[in-house]
Formats: sequence, structure tokens, C-alpha cells
Amino acid sequence: MLDPNLIDTITFTREQQQCSGEVRLQALNRRVWSHELLVKRDAVIQFQARGGTDRWQRPFINVSVKGELQLICQRCLQAVSWTLSDQSHVVLFADEQSLDEAMVADEALEGILWQEQFNLVSLIEDQILMAIPVAPRHSDCDHVLATSTNQASDNPFAKLVGLKSGR
Ligand SMILES: [Zn+2]
Repeated sequence: MLDPNLIDTITFTREQQQCSGEVRLQALNRRVWSHELLVKRDAVIQFQARGGTDRWQRPFINVSVKGELQLICQRCLQAVSWTLSDQSHVVLFADEQSLDEAMVADEALEGILWQEQFNLVSLIEDQILMAIPVAPRHSDCDHVLATSTNQASDNPFAKLVGLKSGR
């Protein structure tokens, strides 16, 4: 089993190696589990990584992460389940100039500088942080609206109050 904290880049990409496993949020870096929108830290993240070389002979690492996270709904401020399911394709570049050129040519490209060994865990952390939505919401969140509408129309006592004051 490869140590996901320290993977030999050449072997991993040339031999198209794979690495997969599970990690709890709280075992990751603080910058992930202390995210302001996260409710719980005990979610399990499943990850998978595969190395390879693309048609331009550039080494790359594919990383995918999956998990169920509890985030704070930005409408009602209660917990909302959110499914993390994200894939990334990270291309490695030998020097900063070729990295810059490739990024300009392809805006969607994710590129990093070549490292003898790479830390898969920190790639996973980056990926989770980028995937978490800015303003998560319940798909049918009406917790806030329901309270105010009820008071106005559905509450029988509201009518009663109206009748009384109408006299
Ligand atoms: Zn909500």
C-alpha cells in the first residue's frame, strides 16, 4: 500500500499506479475540517487516485473524492446533507513557464509544478475545499418562509385577532 502522504511521482505516473482509501475529515488538515460551513467533522471521505501520461507526454494524477457532508444551509441555518463527488485531473509541469503557458492556453486546466514526491492527502484537501459550495441550501428550503406565511394566513388565531380588532 502506498503512503498517500508521500508518493513517488515518476513511478506513480509512468506505471499508471492507483491508490484508494478512506479518510475521516478530522484526520485531514485543520483548514478542511474547520471550514465555516461544515457541521460535523466525522464524515468519511472515499478517495481514489490514478497516475498516467497524457497524449502530450505530460504526467498527470486523477483524483476523485466522495462523501456525505453536513453543511449549514445558508437560508435557514440548519444542517443540510450534501454529497461530495468530485473528480480532478492534475497535470504536472517541469517548470513554471510551461505551467503558465498551459494555464493560459486552457483555462480549465489544473496544473502543478513537478515534485519528486507528491502528497495525495493535500491534493484531496484542496479538492474538497474547492468543491464545497459557497452557499449550500436545502433544495426545497422553506423553513424561514413557512414560519412567516403561517402567521399571516394559516393560523386561525390570526383571524380571530383580526375579528376582534375589527369591532
Ligand atoms: Zn434550509
